[in-house]
Amino acid sequence: MPKPPPSQGALLVRAIALGVCATDREIVSGEYGTAPPGEARLILGHESLGEIESAPSDSGFSQGDLVVGIVRRPDPVPCAACAAGEWDMCQNGRYLERGIKGLNGFGAEWFTLEPKFAIKLERALGHLGVLLEPASILAKAWEQIERIGERSHAWRPQTVLIAGAGPIGLLAAMMGTQAGLQVHVFDHHQSGAKPSLVDALGATYHHRSLAEAIRDVAPDIIIECTGVPSVIAGMLGAAAPDGIVCLTGVSGCGRMFDVDLGRFNRSLVLSNQVIFGTVNANRHHYERAAEALCRADRKLLDRLITRRVPLERWSESLEHRPDDVKVIIEFPQNS
Ligand SMILES: [Zn+2]
Repeated sequence: MPKPPPSQGALLVRAIALGVCATDREIVSGEYGTAPPGEARLILGHESLGEIESAPSDSGFSQGDLVVGIVRRPDPVPCAACAAGEWDMCQNGRYLERGIKGLNGFGAEWFTLEPKFAIKLERALGHLGVLLEPASILAKAWEQIERIGERSHAWRPQTVLIAGAGPIGLLAAMMGTQAGLQVHVFDHHQSGAKPSLVDALGATYHHRSLAEAIRDVAPDIIIECTGVPSVIAGMLGAAAPDGIVCLTGVSGCGRMFDVDLGRFNRSLVLSNQVIFGTVNANRHHYERAAEALCRADRKLLDRLITRRVPLERWSESLEHRPDDVKVIIEFPQNS
């Protein structure tokens, strides 16, 4: 794409890398996403990393800064949540999202960004900054878990069970170990990158049976990162007393499942359990995620990026390979 025309007050950013996730695949297959009004196509990409080429003098940014763009923009009304800067909790659904809903994304050699929606990263983080957007989703999830947990003054969670050892599950595990919890991760892969990454994170890997893992761990917190109905069914009401089940995975619709709702309700009521869903992130969550990435072991973060695809072969980034964790597209840096 050509360099975008100068835009009043905006940062001009040269792309370094772009993370690819299931949302991008959904958009490419036509199941999700909207182009900007009046445009025939949408520039993809919401997991950004770039370097500032030029910045307005009063923006707080300068040339050479590493930045990541916040994905969502508040709705124009705005609703009470968006008005309070909590656009991740938008109530009317009229928000826009770069690379997803009504706004072009960050998957171009150059993009512009409003300083208000840019996050400056420590230089030392380098290309690992591309993990910030997915990490922001987990920073929000963890913050919500903490806030829900405050309903009991005595609740001191010790164990967390995470379903799914993809990028979201592994970043959830990383933040869990940073918080001093005993972290367990369930995934169906028996070998390969995922079990060894979980091990390197200082967490325990389970692959045989979810029911067994729940019984052995008795988790105070469950974080569901797969969106797979059979996994979700196994987790509903399965936390320890006063526990919290956090759902982060998006499922397809139309698959019916037999669930004993009486039993589910009984375990929820009689043990004060909470089940909640969470999506997206606001500025505060990106900042928390940046802190978490800075605290993490760089070599370990680097191992989460399992495949790097050069821009000219971008379409390969959409392929699903068995040992993929995070796949990124790398942009040429000499043009
Ligand atoms: Zn809103």
